Order: sequence, then C-alpha cells, then structure tokens
Amino acid sequence: KTFAELGISSQLCDACTTLGFKKPSDIQIEAIPPALEGRDIIGLAQTGSGKTAAFSLPILQTLWENPQPFYALILAPTRELAYQISQQVSALGTGIGVRTAVIVGGMDMMSQSIALSKRPHIIVATPGRLMDHLENTKGFSLKALKYLVLDEADRLLDMDFGPIIDKVLKVVPKERNTYLFSATMTTKVAKLQRASLNKPVRVEV
Ligand code: AMP
Repeated sequence: KTFAELGISSQLCDACTTLGFKKPSDIQIEAIPPALEGRDIIGLAQTGSGKTAAFSLPILQTLWENPQPFYALILAPTRELAYQISQQVSALGTGIGVRTAVIVGGMDMMSQSIALSKRPHIIVATPGRLMDHLENTKGFSLKALKYLVLDEADRLLDMDFGPIIDKVLKVVPKERNTYLFSATMTTKVAKLQRASLNKPVRVEV
C-alpha cells in the first residue's frame, strides 16, 4: 500500500517522502482510512509504530481543506513527547503552512500566551499547563476544536492527569473527532475511552 492509496493527498504524500517514509506502517494502514472517513479511533500501539503520523496525517489533511485556528489539540504525558509530536506534525505540515504551538509545564507562561495569540492550528500540550492557559489566557478557547488526540493515554492516566482530562472534555465541542492511543488497555483507559470517544474503530498492531 502507498499513502496515496490510503487517501492521503499529494502534498502530504510528498511530505512523507521528504521525511523518508517509503510506505505506510501497519498502524497507519489501519488507522488512516477510517480516520479520513470521520471515525473516532482507539489505537493500541507502541512508540516506534508510526502512531504519530497515523493521527497527524488525517488531521492535517482536513485542516488543509478548511484551515482554522485551534483546530486540533494533542495531549501528551511529557514535555519531551510533546516536542517530538510537534516536530513531526510541523515537518509533515510544512507544505500546507500549518502553525503549531507547544504548551508544556516548566516553560514561561507569557511566551506561551504570545504563541497562543498567534492562533496556531494545532496545539501539542501537557494537560496541566494547557488547563492553566484555558483558565488564564485571554482569547484562548477550544470552542472551535475539531480534533482531540489523547496520546499515550495509559501514561497520561498513570500520571494522574485523569481529572484534568475530564475538565478538558467539558470545554471542547461534542461535535469533534477523538483519537486515543495507548500502549496498553487498562481499566482506566477503557473508562476514558467511554468518556471521550464516539463509536470508535479499534486498531491494533
Ligand atoms: P512514532 O511511533 O510515531 O513515535 O514514530 C516512530 C518513528 O518512525 C518516527 O521517527 C517517525 O518519523 C518514523 N515513521 C513514522 N511513520 C513512518 C513510515 N511510514 N515509514 C518510515 N518511518 C516512519
């Protein structure tokens, strides 16, 4: 299979080629077609499977068709992972002019507020700091959000981000797509799945 055969548009196929992705990985083959059909996804996949591109490409593709600020929020358990995701989203999205912001703890609030005032399309964040900005940064809201991604959900929950994620779920539109990725399926992950996804397609590698 090729990325084009999965339904990925030519600009994004070019970006994949530039990044050295010769063909889609298994998780990408399973997740991208239903995601492009507008389904929610629960993905059981480890780091290294290509899960980041699996959830980023469908988001970038619909963003390209209808660019809007605060289009997608990707929540990750750690700063390092947030930066890695953002790097990959930016690399895949350079050709379509995507603007991303990374909102993580331990960094200056003010410079993050300035980054948010530039109305990025995609925000990659750790939950605590994201909530700080939702409560304190003027002009920043997720009312127009189209996509929510919960990456490494098992780790998010192990780090006790559950209550903050519940708060985030209350301030994002019900009409959205949600992608939840986790290395393991635990009781807590199953509960979060029920709270956040609508008739998801389950993909597993
Ligand atoms: P991830 O599982 O998302 O952390 O991705 C692991 C690594 O695989 C990243 O460095 C990606 O750039 C790379 N990658 C993702 N998809 C592909 C692909 N289809 N072919 C080759 N490398 C890929």
